[in-house]
Amino acid sequence: MSPVKCSVDGCNRKLQPTLKADPRDRDTWFYRECESCFKPVCEEHSSGIEGRIICDRCRREDEAKQPPEKLIDLGFRQPTE
Ligand SMILES: [Zn+2]
Ligand SMILES: [Zn+2]
Repeated sequence: MSPVKCSVDGCNRKLQPTLKADPRDRDTWFYRECESCFKPVCEEHSSGIEGRIICDRCRREDEAKQPPEKLIDLGFRQPTE
């Protein structure tokens, strides 16, 4: 069984399971993974954005897609809106 690894930017870090549903069955173990591309990602190469785990690769793609005004807007958005 090959270890689950982060692959962002050439990262080769082995990931520890975040949850072992059945400790004896590795197929049921959960790893930290990007919610956009569903690839395993280490903590260093991912960030929690609005409660979602997004890898650096997808985050950069998202930022490239968004106009700069939108990013500023997100940072200052009022929670009541
Ligand atoms: Zn991703
Ligand atoms: Zn990594």
